[in-house]
Amino acid sequence: QAKVTGRNRHHFFDSDLDEQVRTHHNRRTEVRNAVRANELVLFYQPKLDMRKGRIIGMEALLRWNHPLRGIIGPMDFLPIVEHSDVIVDIGEWVLREALRRLQSWRAADPQWVISVNIAARHFQRPDFVERLKAILAEYPEVPPHMLELEILESSALSDISHVRAIMQDCQALGISFALDDFGTGYSSMSYLKRLPADVLKIDQSFVRNMLVDRDDLHLVSAVIGLARSFGLKVIAEGVETTEHGAMLMRLGCDLVQGYGIARPMPADEVLSWVASFDTAHVWQAAASLPPI
Ligand code: C2E
Ligand code: MG
Ligand code: MG
Ligand code: MG
Repeated sequence: QAKVTGRNRHHFFDSDLDEQVRTHHNRRTEVRNAVRANELVLFYQPKLDMRKGRIIGMEALLRWNHPLRGIIGPMDFLPIVEHSDVIVDIGEWVLREALRRLQSWRAADPQWVISVNIAARHFQRPDFVERLKAILAEYPEVPPHMLELEILESSALSDISHVRAIMQDCQALGISFALDDFGTGYSSMSYLKRLPADVLKIDQSFVRNMLVDRDDLHLVSAVIGLARSFGLKVIAEGVETTEHGAMLMRLGCDLVQGYGIARPMPADEVLSWVASFDTAHVWQAAASLPPI
């Protein structure tokens, strides 16, 4: 009796799992097809140097323009494919598309840097650098120093010396690296010591709460100090208000990105947005903020 129940339960579980596997497989196929059907698009979010009042570049952020469901954000479909080579196809598509756009924006500002998020699996492929070189060669008007790659701490955990070697090979070409969501991982310090990063990107969760939570303020301040002592640039993400901007400027972080400057926007809105952007309000807020 007990055996039968056990077997039934087992069978039940099995078919449930089958179902899950099938669903996952279908969803992965769906995402793979999205690349082929040309349904992926990049939005761009500006990065601002508050002190200079200048836009220094754009981060490319992936969206899926689904024929039925509309615009879908990356967190709703990248996790489905991050452990398969579909993430590599997507990553290479993103690189090409971002470089193509940057090429068309060069006349507006030849100094802009385009930032591209790279998934761990893509980044750690043995042929990553070779293929990246080939992609860059397709866009001869865009020199490699106009490309920045954003990687997450978790990208490096598996094999830090391999990751370091890839970073150094890319840097030899002129490409720079930002450590995204910095401060959220468990090993930020050793990571920093062993990886040749160019930029630390303070995670938005700290920025969001720094005006109400003393600990987050100290964390933001510490990352800025860390960047300074390692000779790295530092940028804050998730800057939503002028008060955020003002506080960051006081703490010595001039580079900011967030809804307070601009939300990610379609490529064809970028140039007109930049032309109409005015940084004056940030300066006023900075001047009126009481001392820390
Ligand atoms: P991320 O690289 O840390 O990007 C920042 C995310 O925060 C973006 O979400 C952006 O739209 C959002 N954001 C920017 N400013 C603000 C703000 O002021 N407030 C709030 N609440 N949010 C803000 P998004 O576009 O949904 O991207 C989420 C994550 O997906 C990215 O985090 C990145 O890790 C990943 N991702 C995006 N595009 C790509 C891509 O092309 N390839 C890969 N591998 N990953 C990507
Ligand atoms: Mg990023
Ligand atoms: Mg981030
Ligand atoms: Mg993030």
